[in-house]
Amino acid sequence: MSLVAERLRAVEARIYSAAVRAGRDPASVRLVAVTKTVPVEFVMEAVGAGAKILGENRVQEALSKKLTLDSLKAARYEAGPPASEAGLPAPEWHLIGPLQKNKARQAVGEFGLIHSLDSLELAREIDRQAKKKGIVQEALLEINIASEETKHGIRPEEAPGFMKEASGLENLNITGLMCVPPAVDDPEKSRPYFKELNCLAAELALKGFDMTELSMGMSQDFEVAVEEGATLVRVGTAIFGARA
Ligand SMILES: *Cc1c(COP(=O)(O)O)cnc(C)c1O
Repeated sequence: MSLVAERLRAVEARIYSAAVRAGRDPASVRLVAVTKTVPVEFVMEAVGAGAKILGENRVQEALSKKLTLDSLKAARYEAGPPASEAGLPAPEWHLIGPLQKNKARQAVGEFGLIHSLDSLELAREIDRQAKKKGIVQEALLEINIASEETKHGIRPEEAPGFMKEASGLENLNITGLMCVPPAVDDPEKSRPYFKELNCLAAELALKGFDMTELSMGMSQDFEVAVEEGATLVRVGTAIFGARA
């Protein structure tokens, strides 16, 4: 088994254990393998080992990897004996990094989920582009959970108003919340932020908004996130190693 495949298995096992520990169904947590800056060969290994969702920060990097992956797969298939990944379904791509309004047109329809919706202007633009393409784009509302000056996302107290405004957009479907809390050395330090995001989602669900998904937890702290209710964890380094 390749190193990437081994690490992927290890991360999946840790997600499973954390879910069981918390009395949750392990199948309610999905792993997003974060492939930013990762060469496409290693992305291919992860897909071959069963990674179903790939997360990228930049639209362009995602689209070009998607193309390369498709052509690699086709080439291997033609070269015959079918590679292990040939029979696997194509992975779903998620956008996890900030999306500029002028890139919305390229992003809409290419990503199964946009985790980083962080302004009403962007919501309206995604809706407009999705309408043109005749689709409904799913997205998560990114919350600046620690109200950090440098972070993307809207402040927790603005979330109810945002959801109310955005719920009028027919071609944008917001299915939950996402956060990137401050970087920490000790995963326990992330716990209060994950709890807070979960509480906010519960509060919004009571108001009638769809809060199916909670995207939280990265290599450092994904087990704590699972314990606190994450349905999507975004893990890069623990699968692919340190980024250059
Ligand atoms: C890079 C990134 C991740 C993955 O981080 P790791 O620490 O490598 O697991 C998760 N979420 C976002 C938004 C990222 O930019």
